[in-house]
Amino acid sequence: MTTQSRILIKGGKVVNVDFSEMTDVYIEDGVISAVGSDLQVAAGTRVIDATDRLMLPGGIDTHTHMELSFMGTTAVDDFHTGTKAAVAGGTTVILDFVIPQKGTTADPKVCCDYSLHMAVTWWDDTVWLLCHVSLRTNQNLKFFLENWDAMSSGLKRTRTTQVVISARFRSRVVFGEPVAAGLGTDGTNYWHKDWAHAAGFVMGPPLRPDSSNPRYLMDLLANDDLSVTGTDNCTFSVCQKALGKDDFTKIPNGVNGNEDRMSVIWEKGVHSGKMDENRFVAVTSTNAAKIFNLYPRKGRIAKGSDADLVIWDPEATRVISAKTHQQAVDYNIFEGMLCHGLPVVTIARGKVVYENGQLFTKPVMGRYIPWKPFLNLCITELISGKREPYTGEIIFIAPKRS
Ligand SMILES: [Zn+2]
Repeated sequence: MTTQSRILIKGGKVVNVDFSEMTDVYIEDGVISAVGSDLQVAAGTRVIDATDRLMLPGGIDTHTHMELSFMGTTAVDDFHTGTKAAVAGGTTVILDFVIPQKGTTADPKVCCDYSLHMAVTWWDDTVWLLCHVSLRTNQNLKFFLENWDAMSSGLKRTRTTQVVISARFRSRVVFGEPVAAGLGTDGTNYWHKDWAHAAGFVMGPPLRPDSSNPRYLMDLLANDDLSVTGTDNCTFSVCQKALGKDDFTKIPNGVNGNEDRMSVIWEKGVHSGKMDENRFVAVTSTNAAKIFNLYPRKGRIAKGSDADLVIWDPEATRVISAKTHQQAVDYNIFEGMLCHGLPVVTIARGKVVYENGQLFTKPVMGRYIPWKPFLNLCITELISGKREPYTGEIIFIAPKRS
């Protein structure tokens, strides 16, 4: 099944950021070669029936830390299990934050495409110069400011989101990224009677203890105050978390999320009625593809785009559990959450990598995707929209006499 190089997906609804359309999608050699009806296809093409289902661009998780060495131990989900879990959840690209370690390689392990953010671990004149050059060449800079009440990647703080909202209101080029943990759960778990349960939620910055915070963040995501979604996926099993059993500052920071991000956002965002399917596509893939200069190669179902897509059943349900998830970590912060809307088939680079609960992944299926500098068109579009403002005549309506 995984060697199939031509696939026709018929009878479903293609959902892009700007419109949805009942149409078919033809994939050849890793690329979407046609979108339309009555497509001519080569003999031997596999046909997948997508009746009553949606075809969405594969998800882009903007924030993961696979196999990160941190606080004396190493995250249990490596680039292999982490990307396997990603495709099982409908995500076909991860953008991993790396703190480079000699000898670490992702290429032989990945099951879907990936790219990298580089962590700045010190600050001096050279680093300042590099950041300056990055901005001059329109590379983007991502801030993860744990101790500042300023913009934070992995938003969980109400005050931080206010900074992003007011900056965007003043037309500043700022994008906010809530993480799945902040959208699907909250910091009340730190008071759980079971130490292992509480430790499982320890991450930096921490989840807010206000149980209304997830709903608030989802509102902001739905109305375009926040733009993209990541997970900060950095998984340590319970025995690793136990390094801090007598001192919480020694608990390795990190939670799961990259397998469940799409389902959590569909459940809390779309199923709840806060956003439509097109906005879901915006916040789970398209906006990320635009910001990181991967669009329209990624984040869109169109002729010429990479064949990264997910066939989504909006009616199907599942209950999230560590017993059934694909991640290597031995607990799940969303344990017991009922989710409507599931990936049925995930296609990455034109190959079926997940179908009806079964994985068909192989290491080396994914590739490193470099970011191109100098393209701000998409970012301008994201901030101000495509249209010029109307400057023509307006009729006059005389005020009514009282
Ligand atoms: Zn992070």
